[in-house]
Amino acid sequence: MKSLQQYLELLQLSGIQDIFFEDDKFISPGSKSPDKASQLEELRKKYHVCQKCDLAAGRNKFVYGNGNADANLMLIGEGPGADEDRTGRVFVGRAGQLLTKMLQAINLERNEVYITNVVKCRPPGNRNPKPEEVECCLPYLEEQIEIIKPKLLLLLGKVAAVALFKQNRTLHSFRESNLEYHGIKTYVTYHPSALLRNPQWKKPAWIDLQKLQKDYESLDD
Ligand code: SF4
Repeated sequence: MKSLQQYLELLQLSGIQDIFFEDDKFISPGSKSPDKASQLEELRKKYHVCQKCDLAAGRNKFVYGNGNADANLMLIGEGPGADEDRTGRVFVGRAGQLLTKMLQAINLERNEVYITNVVKCRPPGNRNPKPEEVECCLPYLEEQIEIIKPKLLLLLGKVAAVALFKQNRTLHSFRESNLEYHGIKTYVTYHPSALLRNPQWKKPAWIDLQKLQKDYESLDD
């Protein structure tokens, strides 16, 4: 398996982007586990017409998640905003730009990680998703985590933390705790939208990110 990966990396360095097989499936030389990306894409196609909760009624685009299916780090926000609902991609507005900068501050590019939300359709007026909406949508997120098998999770905001840990605690309490979600070390920090509204929270968010960076960089040790 290692030699296959080395071969794919060599192809990537040679500028070859995709390899096609007889059944029309293709894999990217940059991907260690092509099956994960295709599994996620199959599920995205399957769920994009979901009508399980009331959020389906106002949806323009189903926003499943984007990024590296082989990621060691998975980021989970709350739900799509207006820009995400329009484009079908996660974190593309101002909050998305801030998230990109936050990642770059700890030497990560967006294409290294996988990013998604608790709910896949936009709550009207950017309100928090209701508990029943979270409950309906959570199996999709659980499935994504199960497929990607990240080594670290970063939850962006209280909504994501409450949804995954099913505990109604404060964001501060989640941030200060040593958390594991099904054996995956988990960090909680502020949602980028909250940081845009409250720049004074950027300093504690930076402290959270530095802790995460330390763990992320020690994954290869
Ligand atoms: S938010 Fe989730 S459960 Fe609700 S309609 Fe959208 S995809 Fe389905």
